[in-house]
Amino acid sequence: CVPCRVGLKQMLNILEKITNGEGEPEDLDRLENLGKVIKSTSLCGLGQTAPNPVLSTLQYFRDEYEAHINNKECPAKVCKNLMYYYIDKDACIGCSLCAKNCPVNVIFGSREDKYEITQEGCIKCGNCMTVCPVGAISKISGKP
Ligand code: SF4
Repeated sequence: CVPCRVGLKQMLNILEKITNGEGEPEDLDRLENLGKVIKSTSLCGLGQTAPNPVLSTLQYFRDEYEAHINNKECPAKVCKNLMYYYIDKDACIGCSLCAKNCPVNVIFGSREDKYEITQEGCIKCGNCMTVCPVGAISKISGKP
């Protein structure tokens, strides 16, 4: 039915906007209101329960939504547009494994100068962090 079919798509659009770092404070009210309307007007159990995950996370983890919207940060370091990989030059031993395993060749450096990620073009695959033998690469929340 329309509330479920159209309403859930609208909720998804808002969630994607937030996880892309383009959310605005009003989106939280929009999400909440949409979720409640969908629950109360849908004809079957699917529409009546589908908004629950969003409504309950809004209730119990609202601070995480607010971090995405107000600070453009993903505290869980999951949203690809709101986190980045970073090489700690003090910990880097210049082995070049990260650069050799980067599928898009955005890591540059040398044994002497250590390695660095040019954030432009990074697809956030995490290979560099996985292969680093000394744990010099970490995920950072926020936009670089
Ligand atoms: Fe390269 Fe993936 Fe590391 Fe980004 S996360 S720098 S694409 S290996």
